[in-house]
Amino acid sequence: MAKPITSITIVGGGTAGWLAATFLRTKLARKIKVTLVESPNVPTVGVGEATVPNMPATLREMGLDDQEFFRRCNASIKMGVMFRNWNVDHKGDFISYMNPFITPPMIDGMEAGYFYHAYGAGKRDFIQSFCPLIDLLEAWKCPLSLGGKEDPMPKVGYAYHLDAVKFAGMLAEVGRERGVTHILDDVDDIELDERGHVAALQLRERGRHDVEFVIDCTGFQGFLLQKALGEPFESYADYLGNDRAMALQIPHQDPSKIPAATSSTALGAGWSWSVPLFNRVGTGYVFSSTHRTDDQARDEFMAHLGDKAPEGAEPRVIPMRVGRTRRAWVKNCVALGLSGGFIEPLESTAIHMIDMGLRWLLMYFPSQDFDEATQNRYNQIVDSMYNEVRDFICLHYQLGNRTDDPYWIDARTQLKIPDRLAENLELWKHRLPGPLDLPTSFLFTHTTFQAVLLGKRVYEMGYGDGAFSRPYAMNEKSWREFLRKSAAHTRATVAYKGAHRTILLAL
Ligand code: FAD
Repeated sequence: MAKPITSITIVGGGTAGWLAATFLRTKLARKIKVTLVESPNVPTVGVGEATVPNMPATLREMGLDDQEFFRRCNASIKMGVMFRNWNVDHKGDFISYMNPFITPPMIDGMEAGYFYHAYGAGKRDFIQSFCPLIDLLEAWKCPLSLGGKEDPMPKVGYAYHLDAVKFAGMLAEVGRERGVTHILDDVDDIELDERGHVAALQLRERGRHDVEFVIDCTGFQGFLLQKALGEPFESYADYLGNDRAMALQIPHQDPSKIPAATSSTALGAGWSWSVPLFNRVGTGYVFSSTHRTDDQARDEFMAHLGDKAPEGAEPRVIPMRVGRTRRAWVKNCVALGLSGGFIEPLESTAIHMIDMGLRWLLMYFPSQDFDEATQNRYNQIVDSMYNEVRDFICLHYQLGNRTDDPYWIDARTQLKIPDRLAENLELWKHRLPGPLDLPTSFLFTHTTFQAVLLGKRVYEMGYGDGAFSRPYAMNEKSWREFLRKSAAHTRATVAYKGAHRTILLAL
C-alpha cells in the first residue's frame, strides 16, 4: 500500500503561500507536518485586495475571528463589481452596470432576464429591477445591518475587500500559532530524484531541505513548477491583451462614504480598479503595452484620479504574465497562485482560484506514490476553472462597444475568442445565456453572464435581432407587479440598512 504523505513544504509567503499553509494546517491531520519557506529578499506582489463570496466561508472554516479579520485587515464589504464606461448607449453616453453576487428571481416560472429583455424596467437597470444592491451602494450602505426590527432583505452573498499585506501577515501569525514551521530563506536550487520528483530544496542559509510534497507559491517567478520541473507556460496573450498594471494607494475622499463594491472604470487602453478598504482605497490601471507606454499609461491614470491622488504619488508598475502552466500538478509539485497562472483581475478571481485549488487538493490528496490518475483529475478541474474565468473575462471585451481608442476596437477584432465563447456569443443573439451553455460554473453562472449582457444593454444596441425564442407565454402584468413590489422592497431595504462605515466600525 502506498505510504501516506507525512510532510508538505510550501515555497512562498504571499497570499497564496500563507493561505495554503494556514488552510492546510487547519484541515489536515496533525501528523502531517506543514513547512513554509519564504524568501526574505523577494517581495510579494502586494496587490490582490478584492475577493468573491467564498471568502467569508473560507475564513470561517479556518476558524478566523470575523472581528479580528476586519480590524487587522482594514476589511470592508463587497456586494459586487460596478463596471463604469465599458459601453456606450445610442447617444454616446457611458453605461454603468453591476455584476452582483445575487441570482435573479423567476417570475411565472421564467427567468427575470427574459422579462427585462422584453419589457425593460423604466429608468432602472436589470440589477435594480430585482434587487437593492445598486441603491444600497449609491446610499453608501451595505447588505449587513445592525439588527433591531425585522430586516426586509433576505441574506445575500457578499465578499470582502482586504489589505493584501496585512491579510498575509494575519494568516502567517495564525498559521505559525497552529504549528506551521516557518523558514525565512531563499530557495536557490532544486534537487530532483531519479523519477524527476523534487527531492530537496537548496536553501541559501540553511542548506538542504528534504521534500516529500511541495507547493509552489513563488509568484510570477514560478520557481519550482516552471523553472525546476520545466512545465510550459501557456500564454493567454492571444485572448487577453492587457499585460501591465500600475498600482497606487490613495485616501478616501470622504471617509464616511465607503462604497461597498469594487469598481472597474474603462480608460483609454484598459481599465482602472478601485478597491475601497476601511482606511484607504487601492487603485490601479490594467493596460496593454501595445497601446500605451508606461509613461503614457501613468499620465492617463493620474489624470483619471485627478485630485484623488495625493501630491507626488507615483504608481508602482507591475508586469503581468497572463496565462497558466499547462498542468498545475506535476509529479510531487502543485502550483498555487501566480506561479500557476494569472488572468487579469477584472473579476477578482485569483484568490478564489487559490482557495478552490486548496479545496480540490484536499479532495484529491495524494499518497507518496503520487498516482497519475489523481493528478490528471486535479489538472482537468483546474483547467476547467481557468477556461471558465478566461471566457468570462473575454466576454467583457467582446461585448464592449467603445470606438474612441484603437485599444477597444483591437480588443474586439484582433484578439482570439475562445471556441466555446464564440459559439455562445452566436447563441446568445437568440436567447439569454442558459445553464447548459456553460461547461462549468464554479464561479460564474449563466445568470452572471446574463447580468453582463443585459448590463451592457447589448440587445438595445443591436446585438442579435431581438427576436428571442420564448417558449412560455409571458405576462407583462406579472412583470409590472413584480417591479412594483421590488421597488418597494428596495426602498424599505435602503431605509433599514446602516451606513457601510458604521457597520464596519460595529463589527
Ligand atoms: P506573491 O505575492 O508574488 O508571493 C510570492 C512569494 O514567493 C513571496 O513571498 C516571495 O518571497 C516568494 N519567493 C519567490 N521566489 C522565492 C524563492 N526562490 N525562494 C523563496 N521564496 C520565494 N487577486 C484577487 O483575488 N483579487 C484582486 O483584486 C486582485 N488584483 C490583482 C491586481 C494586480 C495588478 C495583480 C498583478 C494581481 C491581482 N490579484 C488579485 C492576484 C493576487 O495578487 C495574487 O493571486 C495573490 O496576491 C497571490 O500571490 P502569490 O502569493 O501567488 O505571489
